[in-house]
Formats: sequence, C-alpha cells, structure tokens
Amino acid sequence: MKRRDVLTGAGALALAGCAGPQESAGPDGAAETFEWKMVTTWPPGFPGMQTGVMRMVEQIETASGGRLKIKVYAGGELVPPLEVFDTVSRGTVEMGHGAAYYWKGKSEAAQFFTTIPFGMTVLEMNGWLYEGGGLDLWRELYANFNLVPFPAGNTGVQMGGWFNREINSIADLKGLRMRIPGIGGEALARAGGTPVTLPASELFTSLQTGVIDASEWVGPYNDQSLGLQETARYYYSPGWHEPGPTLELIVNSDALAQLPDDLRMILQLAAATLNETMMAEYTARNADALAAIEENPDIELRRFPDDVIRELRQYVDEIIAELVARDPQAARINTSFQDWRQKLARWTALSEKAYLDTRSL
Ligand code: CA
Repeated sequence: MKRRDVLTGAGALALAGCAGPQESAGPDGAAETFEWKMVTTWPPGFPGMQTGVMRMVEQIETASGGRLKIKVYAGGELVPPLEVFDTVSRGTVEMGHGAAYYWKGKSEAAQFFTTIPFGMTVLEMNGWLYEGGGLDLWRELYANFNLVPFPAGNTGVQMGGWFNREINSIADLKGLRMRIPGIGGEALARAGGTPVTLPASELFTSLQTGVIDASEWVGPYNDQSLGLQETARYYYSPGWHEPGPTLELIVNSDALAQLPDDLRMILQLAAATLNETMMAEYTARNADALAAIEENPDIELRRFPDDVIRELRQYVDEIIAELVARDPQAARINTSFQDWRQKLARWTALSEKAYLDTRSL
C-alpha cells in the first residue's frame, strides 16, 4: 500500500504504523528535520483558538525533539483569514487551522464537519467523526483539494448572541439585522431578518452604533474579550445554530506524505490533544466569564422561547433539504450525519440529558 493511499483513504485515523519501516535520516545520517509554515483564520493571540494552535505547535516541536518545527502566521499575517484553505491546498504552506464551514464556497458539504444548526454536541460530533465514519467522509471530501483534515478543537455549545431587543416571538426576528453566519443566517433570513457577515474586529462598533441589532460570536469567554457585554442588553441562549463546532487542522497531502511515521503520529496526537484541551479551556473560561456577566446589572440573560426555536428548526430542515437536493456529496454526508445524530441523541437522552435533568430536581 502506497503511503499516499494510507494518508488519504478510508480509515486514515490510523495514520502511522501502516506504511512499514521508514528511514528518516538525512544524507549525513542525522535525523531529518522539517521546517513548516502554518496559517490560521484567527486574529493574532485570539484566546482559545489561536492560543490553542500555538500550544499545539510547541507540543509538536518538543515531542519531535525539534525535528518538526512549525512557524505559525495568524489571520492576515501571511494571507487573509479566508485564504487559509487555498494556501494549504496549493502547498504554499504545509498546515492550516480554521473551520470547515468557512469553505462552503468550495463545497457546501464541508459545513457538516464543523456544525449545522440543531446538529450534534461536542461529544456526539467526536463520536461521529472518530467512531461513526464521519472523519473518513471528511478525508474523502478534502482529498479532492489535496488536504488531510484532523478534528482539532471545539468551543462546545455557543451562545445565541447579543440582542438590543427582546425576542418573544418569531415576529421579533422580522427586520432584525444580525451578524450570524452560515445556515443559521439563512434561517434568520427566512424569518424575515437580515443576516450580516462581519469579522470579529467590527462586531463591537457595529453593535454599539446600531449598524446591526444583534450579533452572535462564540460564548462568554470570547464575547467578553470583544467587549460585547457593553453593546447590548439581552444575552440569549442557547446557540441553536452552533451546538458544538469542530475546528480543523488541515495538512497538505504531499507534505504529510513526506513525514516519517513517528512525526506523522506526533502530528495526529497533537491535533487530538488540541481537540480535547481547547474544549477544556472553553468550559472553564466560559464559566468564569459567565459569572462576571451575571453580576452585571445592565445585562439580562434570556432563553429563546420554545416557539421561536421550533420555527427556526423548521426553516433549517427546509434549507438542508434544499442543500442535499443540489449537492450529491452533501446528500451522502448528510445521510451519515443524520443517522448518527438520531442514534446518538437516543443515548444522549439517557445519559447526559437525563443526568443534567437531575440537577434541577
Ligand atoms: Ca459563532
């Protein structure tokens, strides 16, 4: 089996150990070293995401004894954030970090590998990706772009966002100008609102000056770092539109194929570690930031009314039905996604949800 096939084919989670013994010595007999570049979609120093990536590359360098060194460029430092996919695909740099749903212009099917509204929680996403064939489907899709994806981070359930008006019925979404991306934004449009795309750097001013009426971002930890708590009175939960977004490490297929087995294994383990530690960071820091928000008398925490959620869910179902009707690859991925969501939801109901319900007894 050729190395390339091992890397891009099905079952690629078991990346190392399949290709037999591998010489990794340079011409002088010393271990070969690799100096790679990496681009990300995140602002420099962005808490949770960019800081997580920096932690990962340090771990890779240490674990490899300095044989795999990676220089990281945050969004805009080498290429604009939304050119990460193309830059790694072309092989201009070897690695990237971002979210698959940013690349829906390349393939609408990519969105399923980050999150879709009313989709899976972080535990369910990991179950589907690692054990339910989701990662194989992801690798198959990205092989078309000469990329190998790895799950590498998650924020957990996001918040519904900051609103300067109360949402008591679906009619309150009419005319609402809100920063909300992707399928969630399409659902808002069907409810009569106007979804707006804005980068993180413009959220604070846009909300404060009334250019937009509402904005989602991530959750208390990241929202507070942008100062969003000073821009709107109502902070709504839950993030129906992003229930457990998986972030991605993408590696150029040719570059990955050149690494010896041990370095490929280190890279795979580092990505899996980031998938875990980023979630831990968001869990702890969101709780800290929430405590501060709850003490702020100018902010009211609200939950979306059930009727609003039901209507939005109906719009999302329509949007996904239309998406799979026009994209056969998305249809295949959606079938796997929905089968697993249904199966996992039954287990979640008896485990996580049943347990969480006991807390309010
Ligand atoms: Ca978000």
